[in-house]
Amino acid sequence: MRITADTQRCLGAGQCVLSDPDRFDQSEEGTVLVLRARVDGADEAARARESVALCPSQALALEV
Ligand code: SF4
Repeated sequence: MRITADTQRCLGAGQCVLSDPDRFDQSEEGTVLVLRARVDGADEAARARESVALCPSQALALEV
């Protein structure tokens, strides 16, 4: 599974970075940067789903 981010939708709210700083960062403009797209195992999947749910602009998605 992979997590993807649509920077056109991102509002720069930073919820993803707060929820999973090993996976997400923000560019100088504030939009999301995915540091690690690959999602391995149940723990990472649960955390990735939480990040997707937290994003206020539906910019994050999980792809099988
Ligand atoms: S939570 Fe969503 S809107 Fe906020 S920085 Fe992350 S991807 Fe962008």
